[in-house]
Amino acid sequence: MHKPDAVLFDFDGTLVQITIDFRLMRARAEEVIRRYGLEPPAARYTLEMIAAARELASKQDAALAASLVRDAEAAIRAVELEAAPQAQPLPGVERALSWLHAEGVPIGIVTRNCRPAVLSILERLRLPYDALFTRDDVAHVKPNPEHLLACLRALSAAPARSLMVGDHPTDMRAARAAGLVAVLVSDPHPAESAEELPDLHITRLDDLIGIVQEGRWEGFVRYQEEANR
Ligand SMILES: [Mg+2]
Repeated sequence: MHKPDAVLFDFDGTLVQITIDFRLMRARAEEVIRRYGLEPPAARYTLEMIAAARELASKQDAALAASLVRDAEAAIRAVELEAAPQAQPLPGVERALSWLHAEGVPIGIVTRNCRPAVLSILERLRLPYDALFTRDDVAHVKPNPEHLLACLRALSAAPARSLMVGDHPTDMRAARAAGLVAVLVSDPHPAESAEELPDLHITRLDDLIGIVQEGRWEGFVRYQEEANR
C-alpha cells in the first residue's frame, strides 16, 4: 500500500451534516454592514461580502473597518455556534477517519467555518484529526489554495502526494489549484468549469479506504507529473 502524505477534508457536508441557516447568517451580516452606514456589497458568499464591506469601510477609516469586521464576524459566529450541537457525522466518516488514523496517515481539516464551532463538534463526536485550519487560522480561505497549503505545511506533506476530499466544486477548485488529488464526496454535482472537476468521485467517505489501499489516488499524481513534463 502506498500511503499518501496526508488527507485533507472539508468539514460541513463532508465530515458532518450540519444545518447552518446561511440566509439568516447573511441577513445578520447585512444588518451589521447597514449599521455602519454601508450598503451590503454583492457577493456570492457571506464571508466575501464582509471582506468587500471591509474594503469599502477602510476607505473611510481603518478602525471603523476593523470594528465592522469584528461585529459582522460575531454575528455569523453566533449562527454557526447555534447549529453546532445538532451536527452529526455523515455515513462512513468514523470508519474512514479511524482507519486513516490507525494507518498513520495524517488527517487535516480545512473549513470556512469558525474554530469554536468546529472544535465543539469534533470533541463531541470524538473524531480523530491531526491539524485543523478554520477561517480563523488563515488569511486566505478556500477556494484560495493557500488555505490547503497552510494545512499541508503543518503536516509536512507534499501537495502532489496528498488528497483533498470535499463535497463542493469550490473544494475541487482549491485542490486543483494547490496541486492535490481532488476527491469529491457527494451525489453527482455539476461542476461549473474544468477547474472544479474532481479526479475521483465517491459517494461515502469510507470509499476512501479502498482508494488508498489500492493506490488508486496515485494514478492522478503520475498523470499530473506527466502533464507537467
Ligand atoms: Mg462542504
